[in-house]
Amino acid sequence: MIDPTPTTDEQVWNTAFIGLGANLGEAHQTLLKAIETLGRHADIRHLQLSPFYSSAPVQSHGPDYVNAVARLETRLTPYALLDVLQALETRFGRERPYRNAPRTLDLDILLFNNLVQNDPVLTLPHPRMHERAFVLQPLKNLAPDMMLAQGSLNDLLTACAGQRITQMH
Ligand code: ADP
Ligand code: MG
Repeated sequence: MIDPTPTTDEQVWNTAFIGLGANLGEAHQTLLKAIETLGRHADIRHLQLSPFYSSAPVQSHGPDYVNAVARLETRLTPYALLDVLQALETRFGRERPYRNAPRTLDLDILLFNNLVQNDPVLTLPHPRMHERAFVLQPLKNLAPDMMLAQGSLNDLLTACAGQRITQMH
């Protein structure tokens, strides 16, 4: 018998924003490879990428970071998406010697739909995104009118005007 109310494929796709950063090795190349791999994942579609930025380390040290933000649609759960991102971090040689250490690749889930949760394994929205110019600026490129709980992207960017960040060419 034909199901009278089939679930459409559209219902399972969620929108997520991913923050990407790297400051060791071929940082720009590493981000490009990570993006390409994500974009080919069977459960990820419509990946859009912000411009790349160069930023001074915040609460970290070492060479400048390369940063970008990606918007994508996924039918993965938030935790499954985190697993995919962490597997990519490992694949690109990330080690975690200590908190905020320089890293070859950092992939954070900034937002997953409108989900709000405080699980330390996956806190959403990302708990520090609103105070980081290297997240807010590329996010603004993708979603200029986005409002976070703490305010508009423009107001939040004004509040972190002291953080050096430059668009790359
Ligand atoms: P950070 O990105 O804060 O510099 P890590 O990348 O080493 O640090 O992440 C540390 C832990 O943060 C991860 O093991 C992960 O479980 C947790 N975490 C909590 N919320 C998030 C999130 N929104 N995105 C990515 N990781 C998160
Ligand atoms: Mg991280």
